[in-house]
Amino acid sequence: MYYLITVLAGGTGSIKIIRGLASCTSDFSIISNIGDNFWFNELYVCPDIDTCIYGLAGILDKERGWGIRNDTFYYLNCMKLLGKETWFQIGDKDLITHIIRTKMLSNGLSLSAIVKWIAENQFNIKNKIIPVSDTHIETRIVTNKGDMNIQEFWVKNKANPKVLDVYYKNSDKAKCNQDAVKIIRSSDIIIIAPANPISSIAPILSLSQIKEELIEQRGKVIAISPVIGNKAISGPARKYLEAKGIESSARGIAKFYSQLISKIVIDNLDSDMSKEIEKIGVSSLETNILMNNAKEEKRLARLILRVMNYQ
Ligand code: GDP
Repeated sequence: MYYLITVLAGGTGSIKIIRGLASCTSDFSIISNIGDNFWFNELYVCPDIDTCIYGLAGILDKERGWGIRNDTFYYLNCMKLLGKETWFQIGDKDLITHIIRTKMLSNGLSLSAIVKWIAENQFNIKNKIIPVSDTHIETRIVTNKGDMNIQEFWVKNKANPKVLDVYYKNSDKAKCNQDAVKIIRSSDIIIIAPANPISSIAPILSLSQIKEELIEQRGKVIAISPVIGNKAISGPARKYLEAKGIESSARGIAKFYSQLISKIVIDNLDSDMSKEIEKIGVSSLETNILMNNAKEEKRLARLILRVMNYQ
């Protein structure tokens, strides 16, 4: 039987389950977050999309969690000498992706057409990677030091300011990508990657049509918790969740997604939460959710496919 699988993805946590899936089947699509896309030194940078592309191409720098493995930094050093801003680091090979994308945008191509072209032609990736919208949406972090772009908060300010709120600028006006809608409708399995719920998945859900389609398909949607106990496995998820009044725990995440998921994978250490999660109508599956290597990525992906009756 042929199963259509779709993953809703951000960057560093998401790519782990994506690589795991890729080791089980080549046949799945990705709907990608675009809320962290931004302009930097006249380049249009798409961190989450590029993490998916580089991860699937097997060239992601896993140590850093971004960029291309063994990249050099001549461009960055030259920009430093020129007195340009260099708080967001771009390697030389990575730079080529940004230059091509920016050039194609200035020639009038849509982001989705560009991502398709780059993934297929530069990196030989067969999976569809669909940016959730072709309209620019910006995740903004409201802090005690002001309202700032997510990259300014996370990279430039090293997540130091106190987070008061998070919002998605322009998402009320943006049109979602109809390919994303079609693929959600026709999917047999929809996986919400172990991603930051507020900065990777919520920007996707901020497009109301996408959220409505997922609610329709709830029975087919499974999420993986990015949190163990009350701590995110990495990154600022806890700060964002707390600013949004959401408990930083598997239970809090299950509640946050409850309208659109029927299942959630939580860590063994959180098994005491499973009864409460079941009460909100989400069935929970306990396992080790840490993916520290290719074996663990594959194991978790296989488990998800088994739970979702993939054959
Ligand atoms: P970002 O765009 O780089 O923030 O990437 P994502 O949103 O895709 O991933 C960040 C989230 O992944 C964080 O909230 C982490 O807690 C989570 N994460 C990272 N590694 C793992 C892991 O091995 N297992 C699980 N379950 N979650 C992880």
